[in-house]
Formats: sequence, structure tokens, C-alpha cells
Amino acid sequence: MKVGGNLKEPLIINIQKCSIHDGPGIRTTVFFKGCPLECLWCHNPESQNYCMDFMYDREKCSTCGTCIEKCKSNAVYFENDSIGRTAEKCELCGECIDWCLGNARELVGKSYTVEELAKEIEKDSMFYDESGGGVTLSGGEVMCQDIDYIEKLIKRCNSKGISVAIDTCGYAPRSNYERIYDKVDLFLYDIKLADDVKHRQFTGKSNEMILDNLRYLSSVGANINIRIPLIEGVNVSENNEEVLKIINILNDVRVKYVNLLPYHDIMMNKYNKLGMEYCGSEFSKPSEEKLEEIKGLFEKGNFKVKIGG
Ligand code: SF4
Ligand code: SF4
Repeated sequence: MKVGGNLKEPLIINIQKCSIHDGPGIRTTVFFKGCPLECLWCHNPESQNYCMDFMYDREKCSTCGTCIEKCKSNAVYFENDSIGRTAEKCELCGECIDWCLGNARELVGKSYTVEELAKEIEKDSMFYDESGGGVTLSGGEVMCQDIDYIEKLIKRCNSKGISVAIDTCGYAPRSNYERIYDKVDLFLYDIKLADDVKHRQFTGKSNEMILDNLRYLSSVGANINIRIPLIEGVNVSENNEEVLKIINILNDVRVKYVNLLPYHDIMMNKYNKLGMEYCGSEFSKPSEEKLEEIKGLFEKGNFKVKIGG
């Protein structure tokens, strides 16, 4: 179940250093926790909720029982040859994690002040300067976090000469984009489906706000790279109907590059660790021929296009 939204003090899932797929050069990518969409193929299920999550890795667990012993809330119990946790009783105190020698237990989501996060980002300034990189604020959905916090962080990066990219699904209030667009060097903007009925079916939300925000960012002269996940069973078909509709939409906006991101399912382990059900088992990666065919359609429309991030 999705919890929260637009809370103060955003939670961070991960700060990934030396990233080379989230914008130009060498970057630090900050993954914020919480997303307004519920894409059936979500690659980062731990980023969906705005609150902290708990992960348990059966593969690493020796069933020693220490976590049961240490949990003061009686939230942990043996379950067949595994360890269960009653979420309603768990206070996410982290005690069982500290005692788990197998590192089988993990809390996902940590809060940072703007100052703390900025300092983490600034540690790699030398790499940004040499490579033309910077920081990418990603998620989850960064534009649905506390916008005062995000604006303050961006301004701090600006003041230190660190280039800022925003990776967004576009489903956030227009006013949030208005606040920060002129302080951001690049938007990595996700477009998943042009057809609104299908968009609702596969992501749980209409694409109306997403397309409106894209047109807005284009109208104010923002640098925009479009990212499109390509998924058999969602937006890839024999007659390329959805892809052609997306190209049609992009013809009316100023776009620098298009990245085509083929579907993969290497995130399945995360669903298991979170105890979540994966609802995209019928989806698959398009063939190499299909990917080349789709790339050709974008090139025909005069877009600079790349398969991959
Ligand atoms: S303490 Fe860790 S290894 Fe031991 S039973 Fe609990 S989760 Fe498994
Ligand atoms: S996080 Fe705390 S309350 Fe939750 S299971 Fe572990 S020890 Fe118990």
C-alpha cells in the first residue's frame, strides 16, 4: 500500500557515486523515497512508499533466531524455514538489524538535512569538474518531495558550481517545476505511454499532468532529455502504435536527446526482500531487432536517440 506523500524531511534510499547513466559525465545520483505512480513494472519497488521500508533477505539468513530474541516488540517469529515479521507490531527501531550477523535485515530510507546531503554531494566535486558531470536528483520522484528542501539543495549545488539534473516522471504539481526549472541544467523526463487509458491501466495515474508539465518545461527553455522504457506488453507492439504516438507528442516540444530503456527484470529480488508481489510477470524485453526498428523511427523524426541510459 502506498503511504504518505509530500512529507517534510524526505527519505533517501541511496546515494550512488560515480554514476554514468543519469546524465552527462560522472555523477552522484540521489534516490529519494516515494513516488506518485505505481508502474506495474517498477524497477525500484523500495522507492514507492514515502515512509521507511523493511527488507529481509532469506538467502542471507541462517535462521539463528537472534532477531526474535532481540525484538522487544515481539514482531519477529519463525515461519517454516524462514523468519517472519508482523509489520503492525514492528516499530522499525533497527535493533534486530544491528544484531543480525548475516546482514539479512535492512531498513530502507534515511533522512538527511540539506546540509548533510549537500556535503555528501560535494565530496565528489573533483570528478564532476573533470568529467562535466554533477548531481542527479532521482527517485522515487524528487519533484513530489518537500519542494522547499529540494530548492534549497539545488541552490546550494548552484552556489558550489555543481551541475544539477532532475530525473522526473512528470507527475508533480506545476508550481514545483516553476520553483526550480531555472536552477536545473537538465531534466531527464520519463514518458511511458501516450494513450491515457493505458497510462492509467499500467501506472495507476493519468498522463495529462505529465504531458502538461513537459510542455511547460519546453516552453520555458529547459534542457530536456526524454527517457522511455520499452516494454513488450505495455508500449511495444507489432505496429508501433504507442511509439508513434509518443513521437507525435515529442514533435511539439524541444527535446535534446531520447534514451530508449529496454525492460529488464533484475529487480525481482527486491520484491522478494520487501515481501511485495510483482505484477508485471507478463512483460518482457523487446528483441534487438525491435529495439533497432524503434530507434529508427525516432531517427526518422530527427531525434538524437540512444538505446540505454
Ligand atoms: S538475526 Fe539475521 S540471520 Fe539470524 S535469524 Fe534473524 S535475520 Fe536470520
Ligand atoms: S526493527 Fe525493531 S521492532 Fe521491528 S522487527 Fe526489528 S527489532 Fe523488532
